[in-house]
Amino acid sequence: MVNYKRYKEKIYLTAMEDYYRLKKLTLDRYGGKCTSCNLTDYRVLDIDHIFNIGGIHRKRDPKVKSIYRWLKNNNYPEGFQILCANCHRIKHTKVNIQRLRNVF
Ligand SMILES: [Zn+2]
Repeated sequence: MVNYKRYKEKIYLTAMEDYYRLKKLTLDRYGGKCTSCNLTDYRVLDIDHIFNIGGIHRKRDPKVKSIYRWLKNNNYPEGFQILCANCHRIKHTKVNIQRLRNVF
């Protein structure tokens, strides 16, 4: 009898391995460290749209579920950088504050 729980777990782990392998490959292509603070811990590194067009990018191509896959398929274009989770949040908080000042 097939152990479906173990089978399902193995599929999940294989998918996660593929995801992190692709993420590491992509981060290596963009320098492998946070552009702002030089942190190199892959667990907390993100891809950032340098010109804050992530929302526009996703609206134009709703099929983009994985930025890592999209970057690989598009031969790692310019306009992207690596930021750690903290620097990424700080950047977007600054952008949002600037937008709010424009509104008020
Ligand atoms: Zn950082």
